[in-house]
Amino acid sequence: MKPLRVAIFGAGPAGIYAGNILSGSYENVTIDLFDSLPVPYGLIRYGVAPDHPRIKGIVNSLHEMLDSGKIRFFGNVEFGRDLTLEDIRRHYHAVIFATGAIKDAKLQIPGVDLEGSFGAADFVSWYDGHPDVARTWPLTAAQVAVLGNGNVALDVARVLAKQPNDMLTTDIPENVYEGLKDSPVTDVHVFGRRGPSDIKFTPIELRELGEVEDVEIVLYPEDFPEGWFNEDAEGVTNQHRVMARVLQSWLERDSEPAKRRLHLHFWHQPKEIVGENGHVTGMRFDRKGEVREFPLQAVYRAIGYWGSELPQIPYDDTKGVIRNLGGRVVDDRENQISGLYATGWIKRGPVGLIGHTKSDAMETIENLVADVETLTDPSEPNLSQVLDLLKSRGVTYTDWAGWLKLNNHELALGAAFTGPVSRERVKVVDRQEQVEIAHAENL
Ligand code: NAP
Repeated sequence: MKPLRVAIFGAGPAGIYAGNILSGSYENVTIDLFDSLPVPYGLIRYGVAPDHPRIKGIVNSLHEMLDSGKIRFFGNVEFGRDLTLEDIRRHYHAVIFATGAIKDAKLQIPGVDLEGSFGAADFVSWYDGHPDVARTWPLTAAQVAVLGNGNVALDVARVLAKQPNDMLTTDIPENVYEGLKDSPVTDVHVFGRRGPSDIKFTPIELRELGEVEDVEIVLYPEDFPEGWFNEDAEGVTNQHRVMARVLQSWLERDSEPAKRRLHLHFWHQPKEIVGENGHVTGMRFDRKGEVREFPLQAVYRAIGYWGSELPQIPYDDTKGVIRNLGGRVVDDRENQISGLYATGWIKRGPVGLIGHTKSDAMETIENLVADVETLTDPSEPNLSQVLDLLKSRGVTYTDWAGWLKLNNHELALGAAFTGPVSRERVKVVDRQEQVEIAHAENL
């Protein structure tokens, strides 16, 4: 069995699952996992909402996979800038891109660039303390729209409507807690462009919305005519049935008035964001041929994520993914490019839950292992040669030992927190500080 060296870019679930599956499927392999951030876990740390501890808990199994020593983590290294494709070819047999989809899909309607019109991905990055976004967020709106009927729309709507004290036990950064505390929001309007049977939510996440303290869920009977849910329609799953029951129960219940309201509107196709003096003042929708206008001061577009192009890697700009067949990177004529692979959202687009990324990685790894004999041997196969190159370029990369220090530091900040509740972790949000703590001698 020939020795195999593989680099993975993207230390989120997709990259870690791919590394773990590869280490179990090919004995004589060394795997180096790079991320442009100084820390691992990608979407789990910077995409999952802080009040979703069950999903954040996936970190524990990812931690074990990295801690096993079979995958070496290096953070603060960006593909194309710190390591180019030529560098990778010199040091590795193959590279797997698992860089995800971190941008917002574009919504092409008038007014989308007004102040107060935000992409959900940016807001999520803010509330999860992503190091590369501003620390403040303009939470000045009383009436807010969230566009989209997927789980990201639910996350954004819930975080906007929730009392921040109810999130103090989570790992929300201090600046996020402070920002949300002063929010004057009273009404969060979630708009789906299709009907209540076409929602892309999942049952647990939908049900959870009805349990948020001091938030009233408002549904509109016009969206739910007699027989609105057809159990037997094509494509109806158990999940749809459960969610239909949840919506029906909300329709029928007498809800208590609350400080904040969360409205679910259906059949509202976005038409135009309207504004005055460059700022959002409302939004127009087409509801089954009729124009409806709502006064609003902010609009959050949660209509899907979008994968970014990587230097020198074939990219399909109609889908926001790396061109690939089963994870094998191909050119625009579908010819395989030797040694290049993709997995996760940058391979298949930003759909599916974190667990789906595993089966996706299995397919990519199966194909990579099948190709092993065709892969070109690298001319500089030692890890020290890659690390020397990074050092010579002045890249202050972090490693697994560095992450363990930072992790312990964040847990210690949590333990030292004095306040009305206990906190498990307080996140370090500044990139430079993350790097410094990871390199600290005395931790
Ligand atoms: P999504 O599930 O694909 O939902 C996107 C929503 O945007 C859909 O309702 C879609 O409507 C709507 N949309 C798309 N283009 C639109 C347009 N031009 N105008 C109006 N609406 C438009 O995507 P997501 O919410 O970004 O989530 C991505 C993945 O992450 C999903 O698999 C999701 O379940 C997962 N996730 C899970 C959690 C969790 O807590 N479990 C949290 C966040 C995300 P149509 O259906 O009509 O296209």
